[in-house]
Amino acid sequence: MIDVLVIGGGNAALCAALMAREAGASVMLLEASPKAWRGGNSQHTRNLRCMHDAPQDVLVDAYPEEEYWQDLLKVTGGITNEQLARLVIRASSNCRDWMRKHGVHFQPPLSGALHVARTNAFFMGGGKALVNAYYRSAEKLGVQIRYNTPVQDIELEDGRFVAARVAEHTVNGTRCPAERIEAKACVLAAGGFESNREWLREAWGQNERGEWPSDNFLIRGTRFNNGVLLQRMIELGADQIGDPTQAHMVAIDARAPLYDGGICTRIDCVSLGIVVNKEGQRFYDEGEDFWPKRYAIWGRLVAQQPDQIGYSIIDSKSVGRFMPPVFPGQQANTLEGLADLLQLPRATFVDTVNRYNQACRPGQFNHTVLDDCATEGITPAKTHWARPLDTPPYYGYALRPGVTFTYLGLKTDETAAVRFDGQASPNLYVAGEMMAGNVLGKGYTAGVGMSIGTAFGRIAGHNAALASLGQPIVKSA
Ligand SMILES: Cc1cc2nc3c(=O)[nH]c(=O)nc-3n(C[C@H](O)[C@H](O)[C@H](O)COP(=O)(O)OP(=O)(O)OC[C@H]3O[C@@H](n4cnc5c(N)ncnc54)[C@H](O)[C@@H]3O)c2cc1C
Repeated sequence: MIDVLVIGGGNAALCAALMAREAGASVMLLEASPKAWRGGNSQHTRNLRCMHDAPQDVLVDAYPEEEYWQDLLKVTGGITNEQLARLVIRASSNCRDWMRKHGVHFQPPLSGALHVARTNAFFMGGGKALVNAYYRSAEKLGVQIRYNTPVQDIELEDGRFVAARVAEHTVNGTRCPAERIEAKACVLAAGGFESNREWLREAWGQNERGEWPSDNFLIRGTRFNNGVLLQRMIELGADQIGDPTQAHMVAIDARAPLYDGGICTRIDCVSLGIVVNKEGQRFYDEGEDFWPKRYAIWGRLVAQQPDQIGYSIIDSKSVGRFMPPVFPGQQANTLEGLADLLQLPRATFVDTVNRYNQACRPGQFNHTVLDDCATEGITPAKTHWARPLDTPPYYGYALRPGVTFTYLGLKTDETAAVRFDGQASPNLYVAGEMMAGNVLGKGYTAGVGMSIGTAFGRIAGHNAALASLGQPIVKSA
């Protein structure tokens, strides 16, 4: 019998598999996707948020524990577990050497990645290179890897993991029989339920306009995170945490594909201009805070608008100041022309822009600080980077809610154990998106998804190995 079974094939699962193997356990990793699509949402990532008290390789200045914690506290509105959050923060300060040992390389951020040179370490070659490096290292260390293996069910005995079940399925026309795979311990790292459109529909329900908002959501990452195991674990009585409608949701290009559009469909000019809904009205402060601390609320804000669509509007002063999206925006020399191209009600749209322009107070524009360019006398206010939209050509991008990952997950503790009625399982662990809701009750700050997955993936893998080898479990501080 295998010692440690790891279910999932993204960052959290790979960290767990590598740690379990390093601790001396035999390891098998089951990835639902084919090899070409391995790596889940992790293949789309670019960086992880790291605490550091002084400049360190690719990171400038310092980003102390307390500042990181305050950032998390602010974005989550206090819906976080301080003990687990601090554990993630501390682990982010010393994981990079281990990552390098397994083939991950880092680089300073490219220009256009705003405000993150101090806080975030970027992966050379992005998440795809990180995932490939981990798979290579895992193979070299003797981890057995199986693709096209979606686990459907978990067998438990009094909270103890016994076996995973894979239903009969077909891969490229070949029938794969049902299987039951036993192991001495198991790590669940199979992502959230963001790719399960029925579950999203059920969670978001119908709004007061009679719309089913989630029908207009796009999924930024993998199609394989359908939450089958999360649902099954909840049915089996595992303690859960989080609200099913809470998720990391970004406003992305409305022309993005349904799955796997990845990073290049993000529209990053929101804080430089204004955003209107299909009625041509503004609905939120576009300059509330730095973009990496605010980009993940805009998907949700757009989801609350009629037809779940918004339009990011800038003028030519902002061109070159943000990471350009992959598809060019609509462009017009007049506001009326832009309204027509975007199919917005002309008069209301022009009136919205004019009222905004008149409300902009003179200030010293500086996109790298929370500057003093703010509006006065309009609702909603724009509190920073407010400059009149007065320099044609004007540009507009249609926005849809892009779900990155959901926050409903399994409750855990500092050992990463799955819990049943408050009791930690002796041999079943959880990591990554499947438990990120312990730290992220709502909101997001860039790079913390990979910090959570790396910290808990490593803890879960190590503890699963210890459990399988009959050794005492370590409580991380
Ligand atoms: C476009 C995009 C950009 C992002 N950029 C960043 C970034 O720069 N920094 C950051 O910190 N975070 C970023 N994130 C978030 C980040 O991807 C996640 O927080 C992190 O990757 C989660 O890791 P994970 O291992 O839990 O999930 P995933 O990487 O999604 O892995 C889940 C795995 O489980 C597999 N799986 C699912 N169901 C089953 C099953 N039943 N049986 C077997 N296997 C199964 C999937 O195939 C997949 O391999 C980004 C996400 C997206 C979509």
